[in-house]
Amino acid sequence: MLKTVWKSKDEIEYSLKNAKRISIISCDACAKGCGTGGTVGIEVLQGLLREWGKEVVFTDVLYGCCVEDLMRLTLAKDPRAISRSDALVIVSCASGVKSAILCGPGVPVLAVLDSVGCAVFTQKDDIVARSICRGCGQCVVTYTGGICPLAECPGRTKYKPCKKSPENGTQCAVNPLQDCVWKEIAKRGNLTALEALRRIHKAEGVNRLSPTVERA
Ligand code: SF4
Ligand code: SF4
Repeated sequence: MLKTVWKSKDEIEYSLKNAKRISIISCDACAKGCGTGGTVGIEVLQGLLREWGKEVVFTDVLYGCCVEDLMRLTLAKDPRAISRSDALVIVSCASGVKSAILCGPGVPVLAVLDSVGCAVFTQKDDIVARSICRGCGQCVVTYTGGICPLAECPGRTKYKPCKKSPENGTQCAVNPLQDCVWKEIAKRGNLTALEALRRIHKAEGVNRLSPTVERA
């Protein structure tokens, strides 16, 4: 799922400075999963809007703001209210905001969340949960025990530890405030397979499989 975090209060206030009446659509899928969207997202935003003396004229939650057809159906629920508003705020990742823009709601579409990458939502494994994918395009997490090395290693090494990684001890050579994540990757993952993957990724470049389905 795509992880989102709230923008700063200053940025939201700036975006909404000319809007008095606001419509809100909040994502009930990924954004809800990370605590920014769903009904909670609407409540948080309504709190801010009250503080700034704005009027909320329409709210709805939508499971999958990123699906343009679903966004269109939600906008069709109360087009009069939405057209009376000065802004339509989408509480979702950037894909949901894009989908609303594509629907052409007739009022400015504004964002209040930032998309920071894809993540797993779990209470069970902190290091895997916080190692948010940066979309490098050649994933290695099947051989790192689910930990994204690009997210967790300050040296940004993807296939093996940096040259200064401690042989004894655990302290990271680049950021002494954290442990070397590669110690954990070595325990959970497969460093031999990572080296093989490095060679394959280097050799293949972006020569990806383009599957075709043979029909009998
Ligand atoms: S290695 Fe990390 S950044 Fe690259 S695709 Fe996998 S999770 Fe994403
Ligand atoms: S010591 Fe470990 S975590 Fe720190 S930069 Fe080197 S490989 Fe990465």
